[in-house]
Amino acid sequence: MASTVFNKILRKEIPAEIVHEDELCIAFCDINPQAPTHVLIIPRKEIQGINAMADEDVPLVGHLFRVARDLARAGGLEDGGYRLVINTGADAGQTVFHLHVHLLAGRTLTWPPG
Ligand code: AMP
Repeated sequence: MASTVFNKILRKEIPAEIVHEDELCIAFCDINPQAPTHVLIIPRKEIQGINAMADEDVPLVGHLFRVARDLARAGGLEDGGYRLVINTGADAGQTVFHLHVHLLAGRTLTWPPG
């Protein structure tokens, strides 16, 4: 599998503003933020996206959402609300093929998304 820019961030080969790290995942600020808060939560395990998720990855993916919730809670975002997004495939706008959850908050987000 081709290595992605996120793998370089995981290996600390390129810098990122890391806001959370644990044994299963890291979270860092998006380089091109689409909202005042825009954090990416990614597994250490190389999984290209939801299409490539194995049944054994279900707890890992759940962990990503738990970390997203905890970051939102720590950032005081619970009351105002936030959006968690996983773009899957080219039509959905996925550009980095390493599974990631976008945590977006800090402005009113429109629906449907573009
Ligand atoms: P997606 O389009 O869902 O695949 O999301 C990929 C996201 O990664 C985009 O929002 C990019 O702005 C972000 N991104 C790409 N390179 C970097 C980087 N070096 N550091 C932080 N975020 C990045």
